[in-house]
Amino acid sequence: MGVGTFNITSSTRTKYCAEARDAVVYLNLKLKTAAGFQLAAQSAERRPDIEFVQAAPKDSLGNEGYILKVTSKRITIRAQSRAGFFYAVQTILQFLPPEIVGSKISEGISWTVPVLIIRDIPKYFFRSFMMDSGRQFQTVEYIKRYLDFLAQLKINIFHWHLTEGQGWRIEIKKYPKLTELGSSVAQGEEQQGFYTQEEIKEVVEYARLRCITVVPEIDLPGHSEAALIAYPELTCFKKAPPTVMEYSSHLFCGGNESTYTFIENILSEVCDLFPGEYIHLGGDEAPKNDWDSCSVCLAKIKQEGLANSHELQIYFSTRLATYLQQREKKCILWGDVIENGGPRMPDNVIIYWWNYRKKLDATYKAAMAMGYPIICGTNYYTYLNFPITPWSRYKEDRTFDLRQAYEGNPSDILQPPKFVIGVGACLWTDWNVKMRMIDQRVFPRLLVLSEQMWSSKEKIPFPEYYEKVKLFYPRLDALGIHYGPAVKEEVPLRYNWE
Ligand SMILES: [Zn+2]
Repeated sequence: MGVGTFNITSSTRTKYCAEARDAVVYLNLKLKTAAGFQLAAQSAERRPDIEFVQAAPKDSLGNEGYILKVTSKRITIRAQSRAGFFYAVQTILQFLPPEIVGSKISEGISWTVPVLIIRDIPKYFFRSFMMDSGRQFQTVEYIKRYLDFLAQLKINIFHWHLTEGQGWRIEIKKYPKLTELGSSVAQGEEQQGFYTQEEIKEVVEYARLRCITVVPEIDLPGHSEAALIAYPELTCFKKAPPTVMEYSSHLFCGGNESTYTFIENILSEVCDLFPGEYIHLGGDEAPKNDWDSCSVCLAKIKQEGLANSHELQIYFSTRLATYLQQREKKCILWGDVIENGGPRMPDNVIIYWWNYRKKLDATYKAAMAMGYPIICGTNYYTYLNFPITPWSRYKEDRTFDLRQAYEGNPSDILQPPKFVIGVGACLWTDWNVKMRMIDQRVFPRLLVLSEQMWSSKEKIPFPEYYEKVKLFYPRLDALGIHYGPAVKEEVPLRYNWE
């Protein structure tokens, strides 16, 4: 930090390289909405006031790093890629008064940035937030609202959980019953609905402009009751299963070749809709009761020389990962798939470590032993649906607060080994977490997690950190976020988590 400030006004002139275009558009959008003006174009007579300059490879900023230099006369931003410029703009916004992210014009504010120089590069290239749109459905507008929050926290992956036992939410042209029937198998007011392919393209583009890649999740072979109600011929016993909040042993039949054809046809449309590198194929919580008593599954186990039904799931995941490999995609799977050993899956498989509460670091160790890249998103403490104090079916042992996330998150590894590629946070909507209930779970705790995704700096003591979080509250207010309490001892008696 230096002395003085740079003041952004309607006569501030900017010049930018092609890679910085989306960043400038975003900065202008915020200025126009909150300050009532945009940056002026460059003039021939004088040097621009805000300059976006292509960095040289020797600056070693990578895909997402940037250098931000603010003097009292000008702002200079250097980056190598569009994401780097975009994150520099996010940092500028963080230094501007909080009203800059508001939705109305604020009068009488000086839009100043302090004199400083920052060189900033993220710790991880995979920084994700997951929304469970399967159990509860959120509108496209609501999803976009969250994408804008994520962009401001420099989170670059929106992991979109689109299929569940309680709802299939993605239109698949080849199998219309998936949404005709599968999107309304549960009865709740926010459990009806799906996203059309046009809406999905709209979300993907909205995210892209904010340097966010959308990673769709099609959860297989379990958590699929909604799909199997629509197509019961794909279960082991050709019978539509009941829908459940959690999970059941009614899976796609792993022995039937029609299952693979069906899923590959779905994935073909999914790959076309989502241009990003990653597809998440679930793989969690798939009890094998049905597979163990299905003659078709048992025949497949024998025919393929597999040891048991767990290895049948490895076989199942391997076939689908191989399909994705042909489409030049990486395949993310929940840790359950590798926890019991079995043959190695293809090289495009990435493992997501989640179940710390019941299995501690079993996934982490298995991934390390097998040489899979891993994303750390342990339920302790990245599952933001766990409230801070008990609510509904969430007892004390499924609660955590800002301090616990800051001080004791197993997913926050100080000096991560190379196979750790990122950190993820999840917002599950089980037990009817409706749209109006999400903000108070996600914020302020996502501030800690996004920092753990980005920053390699050493930790300051929690009380100091908490003061920094409080400085962010006016910004959350400006964003219209109905954030909840931060620490257990401050949660009011009978606080309403609904
Ligand atoms: Zn079967």
